Amino acid sequence: MNQELLQRFQSIPAVADAAAGKVTFWINPNRVSGGEKEITAVTPAMIEDARARLDRFASYIARVFPETRENGGLIESPLAAIPGMRDFLNAEYNSAISGSLFLKKDSDLPIAGSIKARGGIYEVLKHAETLAMQAGMLSESDDYAVLAEPRFQEFFRQYTVQVGSTGNLGMSIGIMSAKLGFRVIVHMSADAKQWKKDLLRSHGVDVREYTADYCAAVEEGRKNSDADPMSYFVDDENSADLFLGYSVAGKRLANQLKARNITVDADHPLFVYLPCGIGGAPGGVAYGLKVEFGDAVHCFFTEPTQACCMLLGMATGLHDGVCVQDFGISGKTEADGLAVGRPSAFVGRVVSSLVSGIATIQDATLYDLMRGLLRTEDTFIEPSSCAAFAALLQPSVMAQYLKANALEDKASSITHIAWATGGRMVPAATRDAYLKMGL
Ligand SMILES: *Cc1c(COP(=O)(O)O)cnc(C)c1O
Repeated sequence: MNQELLQRFQSIPAVADAAAGKVTFWINPNRVSGGEKEITAVTPAMIEDARARLDRFASYIARVFPETRENGGLIESPLAAIPGMRDFLNAEYNSAISGSLFLKKDSDLPIAGSIKARGGIYEVLKHAETLAMQAGMLSESDDYAVLAEPRFQEFFRQYTVQVGSTGNLGMSIGIMSAKLGFRVIVHMSADAKQWKKDLLRSHGVDVREYTADYCAAVEEGRKNSDADPMSYFVDDENSADLFLGYSVAGKRLANQLKARNITVDADHPLFVYLPCGIGGAPGGVAYGLKVEFGDAVHCFFTEPTQACCMLLGMATGLHDGVCVQDFGISGKTEADGLAVGRPSAFVGRVVSSLVSGIATIQDATLYDLMRGLLRTEDTFIEPSSCAAFAALLQPSVMAQYLKANALEDKASSITHIAWATGGRMVPAATRDAYLKMGL
């Protein structure tokens, strides 16, 4: 605990609540209209470049991951209306949702079963493309399905990819890298679930386990990788490529909404709720959505009370200069995908002008929501994902937000999207254990 820091920021109610271990909902005073246009670290042209790259890889992805064929090799998830869950939230939590509620099912994303199948896989593909092009083995106009040929696997075998992870990032990087032929080392923090390590090892991935937290695992991975000139480190704390891989979701979601005749404009706002760990996934998706919809989209991040690093980083303006332990918060949570104590050095600064707010949630509530979603919609998502509903459980703060943004009379026209960030890969036995948790 850092008493000096705590004292300095005690006057921000959300920081005081967070430090006291309470559920809270911070509304971002630094959000500005058109905030996304002031960002220079990433640009809409860079999202377009990422989108085009994923298109080039689609024929390869379809060839080596048959589950992606029906979608032409694009790694994308369905958008599902969840009216039963909306009624459940209104009845059990007084959520007062009068608009419609959808679930963006990244929990069902092919290959890795989590939102990491966007950014993580994108960064590995970009690295592979760069190496193959430098070696004169690939050009942009080629059909990338050639990458499935053994000569490419032999080529990539000379190189190593490394990453630090709480589980899901390691799964996406590990599975994709191993498929291309890379040697892979995943440095797993103590929070990582056993089944994720087992699954990776079954893909031939070298999984190193640490008793320390996520930041320590990343540190080890970086050190190990920097010492090897043939090794590439996927840096979740600083990576613009990961961020851009996630950002591609913006246009994809815009197309899904259009296909359903759902309008998004000033009179029909879109509210999106994104579970946040280190910040890359929610930050990238939020940026992509802002580029599509501007002020009509309102992006909220959600975190466990015991790992609310982005809230502390953004509310204090110190970003990666603070960690949850500075405020006497443990960093320990059942939500393994969100078990991060220090926010990204890159993301918080980039998105601080466009995030609407950050809500927190207790671990026990995650399990109640998981069961609620299963009962009302016959849909299973992992506990981390259930954090997506955090802001909807704090209706009085949400009412203030609507009032402050002159949206009170538009409440029933809001499309709410809870972003389900993981779930498909959870083994049956783990699922059953989750469903009994906290009862
Ligand atoms: C990684 C992850 C997130 C958040 O992504 P960050 O980039 O760490 O913020 C959310 N949910 C799940 C299930 C995840 O695995």
